[in-house]
Amino acid sequence: MSVFPAIQELGHQQVVFGYDEAVGLRCIIAIHDTTLGPALGGVRFWPYSSEEEALTDVLRLSRGMTYKAAVSGLNLGGGKAVIMGDPLRIKSEALLRRFGQFVESLGGRYITAEDMGVSVRDMEYIRMETSYVTGLPEELGGSGDPSPVTAYGVYLGMKAAWKKLTGTDSLKGVKVLVQGLGKVGMALVERLRAENAIIYATDLSANQLEYAQAQFGIQPVSPDSWFMHPVDILSPCARGSILNSETIPHLRCAVVAGSANNQLADEKADSYRLADRGILYAPDFLINAGGLINVYTELEGYSRKRALSRTEYIYEATLRTFSVAEQRGISPHEAAMQLAEERIRSISTLRTRTYQSNLSLSIV
Ligand code: NAD
Repeated sequence: MSVFPAIQELGHQQVVFGYDEAVGLRCIIAIHDTTLGPALGGVRFWPYSSEEEALTDVLRLSRGMTYKAAVSGLNLGGGKAVIMGDPLRIKSEALLRRFGQFVESLGGRYITAEDMGVSVRDMEYIRMETSYVTGLPEELGGSGDPSPVTAYGVYLGMKAAWKKLTGTDSLKGVKVLVQGLGKVGMALVERLRAENAIIYATDLSANQLEYAQAQFGIQPVSPDSWFMHPVDILSPCARGSILNSETIPHLRCAVVAGSANNQLADEKADSYRLADRGILYAPDFLINAGGLINVYTELEGYSRKRALSRTEYIYEATLRTFSVAEQRGISPHEAAMQLAEERIRSISTLRTRTYQSNLSLSIV
């Protein structure tokens, strides 16, 4: 793999490689776009099989963060970091603090947060070397678990999709199937129960299913054939790539709206496969942005109320995405991508104009 063409291909502004043999650190920080604000994205500690795999991952994930922040109306750019190696074998205080120093050296252009392979304790070490950290637990003065805020955004995105389809956003009596009763899925089920939706759910964990049955009266569905179950709304809240050429032909629903990241195995082709089947897809990176909104709110001094009220933007943004998709004859996924790009472009020209007027002022 040639590094520079790869960086150029997705339009990254800066990619930093950090190496310290003494502590065993090999990391990459990718800053995709800072037009709207500092590049925010978690740090993933993962045993990548090659440097190429790590670079591909960090470039793809940081670009995704740019789109998520832009379409959610946040003043944030997209970034991500990866630390290469098996966290169980090589993770140490010194390594994490050294990573914190690399983050600090970027002067706030990149803000880091927790991701796979990184724990709350690890974030404490990173924070010893840099203040450019967010998404901290409540006991460290942070915003805590973002999942209830994410679930609220998914719920609002789901309501917007139902409104687009039927003219009403009430989910009373609507059949919703949730895949994955984890932190987000369970909080979503609680909201759906409060609105008297008819809830079906699936999870690999029997405990989660039993709990949801006892607490919220869900009806369990097999984890193997869940996507074939006839319902109004399907809500993938477990894992990515579950909307693909194998599953889409079997779906028996009118709407897909869930929290899982990267639900479409092939972004473009699968978004049109859904549209061709007349299934309304609420773009994942838009409706699951509540978690990002939550950590963004932490940067200003956290209030859960403020985070939830900001998340309400997702309802209007989802409706707008559907309208734009209709007007332009494209899929909602592509419409959300285009809206994100347009917002970045319009703010970047605003910045250029402000800069030029400052320049002329100083010349005068
Ligand atoms: P979680 O790990 O708490 O829960 C995932 C649940 O899915 C678990 O209960 C697991 O048993 C179940 N599961 C896994 N594979 C399954 C399968 N094949 N069939 C059925 N159930 C399965 O995760 P979470 O924090 O609730 O996140 C859920 C999804 O939403 C993930 O894709 C995550 O990336 C995405 N997401 C989460 C947040 C957040 O704030 N937590 C924000 C944005 C996106």
